[in-house]
Amino acid sequence: MNFCVKCGRDCEESLEGMCIDCWLDGRRLTTLPHHVDLKVCTNCGEYCIGERWFRTDTEDAVIKAALGARGIIRDASYVDQSASAEENDPRVYTVSVWTELDVMGHRVEDKATTIVRIKNSVCKPCSRKLGSYYTSILQIRSGAKELDPALRDEALAMVVESVERQAANNKQLFITKAEAVPGGVDVYLSSISLGKSLAKELSEEYCAETKESPKLVGQTSDGQDMYRLTYLVRLPEYHVGDVVVCEGRHCKLTSVSGIGGRVLDLLNFRERAVRRADMEDLRIYAKRSDLMDATVIDRSGSEIQVLHPSNYSTVDLKVPEGFEAGETVKVVSIDDVLYLVP
Ligand SMILES: [Zn+2]
Ligand SMILES: [Zn+2]
Repeated sequence: MNFCVKCGRDCEESLEGMCIDCWLDGRRLTTLPHHVDLKVCTNCGEYCIGERWFRTDTEDAVIKAALGARGIIRDASYVDQSASAEENDPRVYTVSVWTELDVMGHRVEDKATTIVRIKNSVCKPCSRKLGSYYTSILQIRSGAKELDPALRDEALAMVVESVERQAANNKQLFITKAEAVPGGVDVYLSSISLGKSLAKELSEEYCAETKESPKLVGQTSDGQDMYRLTYLVRLPEYHVGDVVVCEGRHCKLTSVSGIGGRVLDLLNFRERAVRRADMEDLRIYAKRSDLMDATVIDRSGSEIQVLHPSNYSTVDLKVPEGFEAGETVKVVSIDDVLYLVP
């Protein structure tokens, strides 16, 4: 059995020779500064807590800011805590923090208050966005002289959707700007890896050629070379649905992917694969949008009868097995002979 050097009471354990009551007497168990500044991004509304930016409500942010500034007496560990915030005005809150501690096996509690002031600031991603920051450029071009506006819009929509998807978990990823230029469009991006992933996606979707070229733009503060990357994506002229000439035969292009494509022979309706390396030899005979509509007047097994869209004569067309002709069908004229494009 020990006794307290201050009050003389017997006590089982002693801290620096004192009983717990005498040891705690006059000591601050928890401390809070007079005030805590809480940064809010005026652009996106996120709060800076610790070193990181979070999206949360104001009350939660001011409480977290106060808890982050609280100090506890040494040799103590947390047992429990609670906090409440009271609004003095929309930018100033009084936060009360109640803390339960374990001091060498003894449960003790303390209460402290501070004033949390909300200060305007701009988070790093927002300041980059606002400052037109970019580290890569995605150049979308076409094999033709001009990029078809419909194809441009389609490719751009795919880029925007992909960036939104990737940015959901990473605020650092964004499109700085998209700019129409002769022959296509330039998309300025906040990250090199974003440019790379978008170039790969477009390449796979359209079987497009890509080329990357780095450009030295300076040095970081610690002397590392800093690069910007340009990703050129050349979209092929052909598009799914076009009639193309493949090894001398007229075919409908039925699919395109990163490894090549598939074509359907208009003479015998056989489908086959085209390797990526051979895709560049495809020649467009008729764009999907240029195919003609022919009115169907009769159906019988492997043939249908249609009205020729130019001279209105009746024409028999071979159809593939299982083909269901509607009111009209798509046709193409090759050497004055009409073919069905199923
Ligand atoms: Zn004592
Ligand atoms: Zn922000």
